[in-house]
Amino acid sequence: MKTLRIVLTLVAMTAALAAQQAERKQPTGYTDTPLIPGSKWKVHDDTRPRPPVVTPGDAPGKPPSDAVVLFDGTNLSAWKNAKGGPAAWKVENGYMEVVKGAGNISTIEEFGDSQLHIEWRAPSPPQSNSQGRGNSGVFLMGRYEIQVLDCFENLTYADGQASALYGQMPPLVNACRKPGEWQTYDIVYTAPRFKDGKIDVPGSVTVFHNGVVTQNHTLIQGKTMHRVVPEIEVHGPRGPLELQDHGNPVRYRNIWIRPLGEVQ
Ligand code: MG
Repeated sequence: MKTLRIVLTLVAMTAALAAQQAERKQPTGYTDTPLIPGSKWKVHDDTRPRPPVVTPGDAPGKPPSDAVVLFDGTNLSAWKNAKGGPAAWKVENGYMEVVKGAGNISTIEEFGDSQLHIEWRAPSPPQSNSQGRGNSGVFLMGRYEIQVLDCFENLTYADGQASALYGQMPPLVNACRKPGEWQTYDIVYTAPRFKDGKIDVPGSVTVFHNGVVTQNHTLIQGKTMHRVVPEIEVHGPRGPLELQDHGNPVRYRNIWIRPLGEVQ
């Protein structure tokens, strides 16, 4: 009886191994296809590396398995102030809030090409108007501002509206929710590439504001400035994510980022 069990186990193991090997040998593509122009890979090339597996967040807006969570609602340990000390913004009830005069805060870790998810909420009831109403900002690499502003029934200049690339490109549409409601930015950012002290390939940014495309691969002209043309500043491949203290108690929550590698 014991011998039979051993034999059956061996048979089962051999069959499993054979199936595994057969699966490994099973081609899913083709070997007689042409090269994709500008690529070292053939069409449907079986030797081309498969992309890594990522588990999506368990609800829309939740971080996928490979995201770097920058703020989960509990503390500012991933952030610092302009002098490198602790970030002194308020944290309560799952959000952080700008503290007027505490200054901008930025991430300790630095990022280059990336996908960013960030949620924000302008104060309610609204105070002031134009650029004084719910103003903050998301600075990519600490340089390029995607404007945060309460633009619900609040007129201001076009390139200073919510989700504008500030001072350079207005959003395609105004997708602002009412003050007091949580809003989302989903941002895909490609850093500029420099060569010999000049821009070789401009950086670009795509923004979804509350799920609506507001920047569609917008080319970045240079560093965000106020009332002057953007300044080109040569920099490295990574920089911090920075949030602006513009004196208004704007809140943020659920912030995560995914560094983007290159497809093989
Ligand atoms: Mg701003």
